[in-house]
Amino acid sequence: MAVGQEIVCLCSSCKMELRHVIVAHKSGNSGPVAKVRCNTCGKIHAYRSTPQEKTGGVIQAKREVKPREKTVVIPIEVEWREQLKSRERTPSLPYTPSKDFKVGDVIDHPTFGCGVVKSLKDGNKFEALFQRDVKILMHRLKAD
Ligand SMILES: [Zn+2]
Repeated sequence: MAVGQEIVCLCSSCKMELRHVIVAHKSGNSGPVAKVRCNTCGKIHAYRSTPQEKTGGVIQAKREVKPREKTVVIPIEVEWREQLKSRERTPSLPYTPSKDFKVGDVIDHPTFGCGVVKSLKDGNKFEALFQRDVKILMHRLKAD
């Protein structure tokens, strides 16, 4: 390897394996690489060998660093849509606190819109899934 050649090695500034240009050797032009300049940040730093360099020498193509896959979070709206889709034929019940709702009921709330009863809670509370949020609502309350 000669001065001016490109090698891929770890950049001490970028903390990534990047393309570098050899700027100095330890002894003459044939010795081990001593200093490299990072093509990305432009800094000259001591050469650190990488496993690739040991086996191969000059690497032409820059390696693409793959972004880590993100954990897929199912948005509440998707769950809500699916819940409603599977209950297309279930008539929605207008929400009033005096009613007695059960799991799977489709409710029509004046503020939150259409929702599905997810679970019943202690006493007279239940959990309902709406387009934007899961809400705790009251039921089985005596009407005035
Ligand atoms: Zn760099």
